[in-house]
Amino acid sequence: MSAERARPQEGAELSELLDYIDHLEEELESRDTAIRILWPLARPAVEAMMSPILDVIRDVWADVQRTVEDVMEALETAGVDLNRRCRMCGCTELNACEGGCSWVEADLCSACTGPIVQGLPAEARDVATHWDPAL
Ligand SMILES: [Zn+2]
Ligand SMILES: [Zn+2]
Repeated sequence: MSAERARPQEGAELSELLDYIDHLEEELESRDTAIRILWPLARPAVEAMMSPILDVIRDVWADVQRTVEDVMEALETAGVDLNRRCRMCGCTELNACEGGCSWVEADLCSACTGPIVQGLPAEARDVATHWDPAL
């Protein structure tokens, strides 16, 4: 049996707790159990260590949110309708077709009125460009 060892007190240094976890792991032959037993004690130290990191993450996240809001506002100001969607392929302002496309109708993009569709007889072209995948 190994020597008795004082259990760290609440607010103990993280290094002391990690040390004790190693000790307990040997005693219990399970690191999971050792961590579970010591977690309430280790928690304040872990949180104190994490708090500056979390602050940075929070700041970065706030920046990202601000940037997204700025972009959305700029798009709205420029008259870009983010809900606009091609009725045939479903492409949008932010997710254009491969190779790029533009609006030829309120809800139809240039990629969907390409040479293949234009080569169809008028009636078939009408069906092709008014086909709604949702129906
Ligand atoms: Zn399209
Ligand atoms: Zn498109």
